[in-house]
Amino acid sequence: MTTTMHEKFDLLLEQDGDHDCEGLGRDKVCVRIVAMAELPSRFGDFHIIAFENNRDGKEHVAITKGDVIGASDVPVRLHSECLTGDALGSLRCDCRDQLETALKAIGQMERGMLLYLRQEGRGIGLINKIRAYSLQDEGLDTVEANLALGFRDDERDYAVAAHMLMSLKIGSIQLMTNNPKKINQLTQYGIQVNGRIPHIMAPNEHNRFYLETKAAKSGHMIDFRGKEHLPEQYDSPIAEGMSEDQIGALND
Ligand SMILES: [Zn+2]
Ligand SMILES: [Zn+2]
Repeated sequence: MTTTMHEKFDLLLEQDGDHDCEGLGRDKVCVRIVAMAELPSRFGDFHIIAFENNRDGKEHVAITKGDVIGASDVPVRLHSECLTGDALGSLRCDCRDQLETALKAIGQMERGMLLYLRQEGRGIGLINKIRAYSLQDEGLDTVEANLALGFRDDERDYAVAAHMLMSLKIGSIQLMTNNPKKINQLTQYGIQVNGRIPHIMAPNEHNRFYLETKAAKSGHMIDFRGKEHLPEQYDSPIAEGMSEDQIGALND
């Protein structure tokens, strides 16, 4: 399998190594594949594929399991970079839990991939995200603070993700998400989404706030400090033990 994957990648690089196009979405984002390497991890044996972005220079990666190049029906998870959560273990958000849950699941699959998108805080950047945290610390309404700082602005993420999938000649995907509405956004960019795989997380001492009743009522999560905030990833997590009503409320 490894050999096949490397051969396919080399061929792809030969054909598309200097790819350039009109770009996708509002910001006309165009990416191209640059390099692939093996990435053994605590979650499984993956490959990591690096993409160059010839519009704003952001370096996105795909973490892939199995032989995915040119494949169909590939399970795909979209993850937005979150330095504080993913790398530093912050409990202000659930990004690391979402990332680990996805990588563990994909690590068990015959094939699948996670697109790690370098769009910290839904594209507002690390500094603005810390500014939003700071406003929250000062007692501002966290939802309003986040909205003011653009936390809901996530259109661009899908354009990059769609282009990455196209670059890898993925014929169709199964999107790992809890929000059926998100499928339309990828479809708009020409990605065939054949189905949806629910993203279900096991509650633990670090993410027990998922089960808070208030979270289910508002569709927002309650963080460790008891404050409401918008999800930093694309969709709200489903935790084992949630009722149908709670799950339904997440995407309202
Ligand atoms: Zn392009
Ligand atoms: Zn986060």
